[in-house]
Amino acid sequence: MSITPLMPVYPRCDVRPVRGEHCHLIDENGTRYLDFAAGIAVNLLGHSHEGLIGAIQRQAATLMHVSNLYGSPQGEALAQRLVDLTFADTVFFTNSGAEAVECAIKTARAYHQHAGNDEKFELITFKNAFHGRTMATISASNQEKMHKGFSPLLPGFKYVDFNDLEGAKAAMGPHTAGFLVEPIQGEGGIRTGTDEFLKGLRQLADENDLMLVFDEVQCGVARTGTMFYYEQAGVVPDIMAVAKGIGGGFPLGACVATEKAARGMTFGTHGSTYGGNPLAMAAGMAVLDAVADDEFLAEVREKGERLRTRLEQFIGNYPDLFEGVRGKGLMLGIRMTIEPRPFMQHLRDNHQLLTVAAGDQTLRVLPPLVIGDAEIDEFFDKLSAGAASYQAPES
Ligand SMILES: *Cc1c(COP(=O)(O)O)cnc(C)c1O
Repeated sequence: MSITPLMPVYPRCDVRPVRGEHCHLIDENGTRYLDFAAGIAVNLLGHSHEGLIGAIQRQAATLMHVSNLYGSPQGEALAQRLVDLTFADTVFFTNSGAEAVECAIKTARAYHQHAGNDEKFELITFKNAFHGRTMATISASNQEKMHKGFSPLLPGFKYVDFNDLEGAKAAMGPHTAGFLVEPIQGEGGIRTGTDEFLKGLRQLADENDLMLVFDEVQCGVARTGTMFYYEQAGVVPDIMAVAKGIGGGFPLGACVATEKAARGMTFGTHGSTYGGNPLAMAAGMAVLDAVADDEFLAEVREKGERLRTRLEQFIGNYPDLFEGVRGKGLMLGIRMTIEPRPFMQHLRDNHQLLTVAAGDQTLRVLPPLVIGDAEIDEFFDKLSAGAASYQAPES
């Protein structure tokens, strides 16, 4: 037998973390890494946040899981918190981002089909998007590397270039139910939707009674310096998928929607055994207690600006490697002139700095939101050393 017990779907590297301390990971050999990947935008509070640990420990000792057959004071409390913090009137809790997007897709379809418009099922989505790895969410993305071996895809998605409002308009037809878009593409390379594009989608949705669905799984929950990025974009969606950061490391996601958008989501239409269980609710509440705070958010913006300014100065020293800096708050990307993956590996293996490669030749910089001056200085020490010592592999 040559298959590994862990299904070999990830090309895992040799770093094998066993412990986390604030913004660092420590591996089996005791090597310390500066973690500017944060579990891919998950560990907002770093790795050993007392509030989060305490909340999970207390809830685990009190009540971990009950079925959604019963009333949920814990779920009601976190849902109310999200309703208060967003445009939404109602929340469905999931265990992951893909499930949050699944629920958003179902909600958008049901909005029309609940009213008898069964022909409206198609979502217009955008090239190089990432919405997750379930059948529906891979079908929602045009990325062929995620499709290969898994056909047939789910029908009902049409792909248009990101930031191409005219293209989105031209793709509309009698089957269109709405638009599904990451307002900032994460996996696709920290590409921000232009104001014109996002506002234009809102207008098209309003004029044609379509659903505007934002996937804020990566850019949401304080990452960009506001609770959700739609606030900065000045565009309010009808439905939004949330996950990654909201559990701070505990598996938790949410699909939030306005009352109108959720009109099709009635008794029996959707469900999840684990979704919204008391343990997950405790984790989500602890994360929101920490980040849903004006001072915390202002600090994220301020640290993001400082990191960005220093990055912009820094990359000027290495025009052969770097082209520009992108993103908002602490969701940053460095556009490179070369493939970012070998450089990311070099930073990791030779300088103990963790970052994440993304599409469009971009290196993602996604630190925990609790970084301070010391971590920012350490980041630049490692990045400078890494850039100075880098030799691109022969291609
Ligand atoms: C990570 C991600 C997802 C999928 O989340 P999972 O928890 O891995 O299922 C969906 N959308 C976006 C924008 C993401 O970044």
